[in-house]
Amino acid sequence: MSRNSYDFVILGAGVVGMTIAQEIKKRFPGQSVLVIEKESAPGKHSSGRNSGVLHSGIYYPPNTLKARLCNQGAAEMARYCRDRKLPLSNLGKILVTTRSEDTTQFETLVQRAAVNGIEVSRLDEKQLKAMEPEARSATGEALFVPQTSVVDPLAVLSSIVADALDAGVEIRYGHSIGEVDVARKELRGPGFTVKFGHVVNAAGLHADKVAHSFGVGKCYTLLPFKGIYWKLRQDSDIKVRHLVYPVPDLRVPFLGVHTTTSISGDTYLGPTAVPAFGRENYAGLQDVTAAELMRIGGLLTQQFLYGRDGFRRLAWQEGRRYFKPWFAQAARAILPRLRPADLIPTGKVGIRAQMLDRVSGRLVNDFLVESGEASTHVLNAISPAFTSSFPFARFIVDTYLS
Ligand SMILES: Cc1cc2nc3c(=O)[nH]c(=O)nc-3n(C[C@H](O)[C@H](O)[C@H](O)COP(=O)(O)OP(=O)(O)OC[C@H]3O[C@@H](n4cnc5c(N)ncnc54)[C@H](O)[C@@H]3O)c2cc1C
Repeated sequence: MSRNSYDFVILGAGVVGMTIAQEIKKRFPGQSVLVIEKESAPGKHSSGRNSGVLHSGIYYPPNTLKARLCNQGAAEMARYCRDRKLPLSNLGKILVTTRSEDTTQFETLVQRAAVNGIEVSRLDEKQLKAMEPEARSATGEALFVPQTSVVDPLAVLSSIVADALDAGVEIRYGHSIGEVDVARKELRGPGFTVKFGHVVNAAGLHADKVAHSFGVGKCYTLLPFKGIYWKLRQDSDIKVRHLVYPVPDLRVPFLGVHTTTSISGDTYLGPTAVPAFGRENYAGLQDVTAAELMRIGGLLTQQFLYGRDGFRRLAWQEGRRYFKPWFAQAARAILPRLRPADLIPTGKVGIRAQMLDRVSGRLVNDFLVESGEASTHVLNAISPAFTSSFPFARFIVDTYLS
């Protein structure tokens, strides 16, 4: 019979929850750790549906959690993959400008790279052509970031899950939390009750709702953005050697349509950042409810009316990318010879667990951790939380659980 009382209960068996579970067991070997996961297996959401890129950390303003954790996380994750003989491909990233106005953002990236300790080299038009013949830069300048690799995210997560089980972490799949009784330190769901010493909420797309049930993070609410990918036809005469990214709008937490050559060798273009109509609205009307539709629609309308941080431009630009011709147009900004016929649809879709701060009316850009009574809540575990997961877990245990 399974026990019903644990020192630590983690909600969510994504990469964030599992690395935290493992870190707790490493620090406090005598303490019991249970992970509760609502799906039948790990990796059904962001951790199994992302681009698999180990980001260098070039994008993030110094002193943010992302800047502090990403570079270190990429190095640790790459080492982990090498140690465990998991697929790892060090392709390097090339960033190109897509508009003449991108010069300021380009220079900001160069400065951030220097402050964040990330190796980059500037490329002129001739060097860009030699390294990546299909790519185009609007201003003639590009940036090469050699420390950027690609992994198989599901293989990494499965390996971390196996390590955690070996260390004595218990996992219950197919269990969803319905009710939280903070005073009695009890979590209840259909047919089960679990007592906890401390809960860590790593519930990704549902983290705001879970936090609210603990009376925490009430000013944050999830605004889901869908990342749709298209695949470059294998017989296309367009070939890319690196990961090719546009210089992004640094006011929003999205990187723009880019190329990712996966471990299998297939090149994907995407992801978009189009609004999703539900938290798990991966296809069609999946997970669309009237209440969520109204909540999301209301938030989007508000954001559109306020027009903060270039939201109107983002909405107009991204909304159209649901449709192939507009998606192809975005992709042509980095690969000008690309035609719609070069792209084939894929089932590869991920949804970002993006939080909106209702008080400031702004999309939250950094990782966010809030604590409550006997609980810690990981909110806004957006990209690059996969890359950063090992040091992020240490940061959470050091700051909130020790
Ligand atoms: C399209 C896309 C591309 C991305 N690309 C990259 C990239 O290239 N590199 C990078 O570093 N990052 C990338 N990211 C971000 C990265 O995938 C996430 O930051 C990371 O996976 C977050 O992990 P998580 O454990 O917080 O969330 P998840 O993987 O979503 O895990 C949360 C888990 O909680 C479970 N859960 C939810 N509610 C409950 C509940 N009430 N009870 C029990 N369980 C619950 C869910 O079923 C889920 O398994 C990308 C994200 C997206 C969407």
